[in-house]
Amino acid sequence: MLTYHFEDNIPLFRCSLCGKCEGFIESKSFINKNRGCCWYYPKYTLMDIKNILSMGREDFIKGLKTLENVYISSFYLEVRGYFDEYGFNNMDIDEDIDFDKKLFFRLCPFWQENGCKIDYRLRPHPCNLYLCREVIELCKQSYSEFSKERKDYFSYMNYFNELLKRELIENGLDLLKDFEATLKFIKKYEVPKFEPRQIKDLILTNEAS
Ligand code: SF4
Ligand code: SF4
Repeated sequence: MLTYHFEDNIPLFRCSLCGKCEGFIESKSFINKNRGCCWYYPKYTLMDIKNILSMGREDFIKGLKTLENVYISSFYLEVRGYFDEYGFNNMDIDEDIDFDKKLFFRLCPFWQENGCKIDYRLRPHPCNLYLCREVIELCKQSYSEFSKERKDYFSYMNYFNELLKRELIENGLDLLKDFEATLKFIKKYEVPKFEPRQIKDLILTNEAS
């Protein structure tokens, strides 16, 4: 089952296969963890930060700043996770795949045994809208509504992220120069809410019989 949920200006695709995807190429891991496709190092754009501030979780963003594994750039925060460099350099992988094989050796810092340890509204938006190729295949034609929603939300986030970035530049602010003042500015900056589609729950083809 694939369902769509939207709350606090944040969308979420919920897939019943996540966590049960042993054997899927994108969930393959050589680090002895059943971590699905959570090899991502969460990157919080200005708009991700804005959404989190708007729901009153300034404490979460300020907490990130104090962590050693967080890279602070002028206009985003990236939470760096685990990478088994030795394993990557010494492993013989003969599979013919079209993405970076380093992903097999990476782990998101927010991953835990039974899935993601943070509320979905505290994740960067790509986490909540990502579906692997196997899941997309099982959706068949019905994926198109989810796909359109994903594209529209990404466009919305990118567009307002750019505007927000320009406004910050014009005001001489960024996360490195003055973290607190930049958060205040982001919080105040007005952005229209995204208007989500109504999308019906989708039965995956392996569940249909
Ligand atoms: S999107 Fe696919 S690979 Fe990722 S957790 Fe879900 S089922 Fe597993
Ligand atoms: S933040 Fe959560 S959902 Fe996103 S990659 Fe990390 S563990 Fe997975």
